[in-house]
Amino acid sequence: MRSLPFFCRGPVVRGFGRGSKDLGIPTANFPESVVDKLPADIGTGIYYGWARVNNGDIHKMVMSIGWNPYYKNTKKSMETHLIHKFKEDFYGQTLSVAMVGYIRPERGFSSVEELIAAIHSDIEEAKRKLDLPEHMKLKEDKFFRTSISTANHQIMNGH
Ligand code: ADP
Ligand code: MG
Repeated sequence: MRSLPFFCRGPVVRGFGRGSKDLGIPTANFPESVVDKLPADIGTGIYYGWARVNNGDIHKMVMSIGWNPYYKNTKKSMETHLIHKFKEDFYGQTLSVAMVGYIRPERGFSSVEELIAAIHSDIEEAKRKLDLPEHMKLKEDKFFRTSISTANHQIMNGH
């Protein structure tokens, strides 16, 4: 995929409440405005990379790009699971992501257990791949040196 690595940033919006969090794998959703800027060669499937909430630490992530049921599957959705335990939700905060590589295409599962097992194996693959020096150096990219202004979060959080 010629467009990788791909960097993007935007607010975290509410998803469709598919219960990802109940599975222990919450996914932070980007709004349509961010999804619309994806290059055409970045198709649906599972990706790995780096992600950061506001000006916080940079964490490993896995991202699912799929078809958005809200738009009758005519638009892509982007959902990022950061490989880190957060104390609180971060709706409305700014998420910055570097999509680094591709893991696998989207697929169906016959049970929730099978789905969870697949995601855990994606997470293990992401962790391993991101330890490679060529991927580690993307954490130092100037993209992550941009400071997200506090004023900006306050406006987005409505206080
Ligand atoms: P939604 O359908 O609103 O996206 P989810 O069940 O997928 O609901 O939960 C996503 C929310 O959980 C994120 O928007 C974020 O605020 C929060 N969250 C907490 N920890 C994480 C994490 N490690 N990765 C992604 N989101 C997280
Ligand atoms: Mg979600």
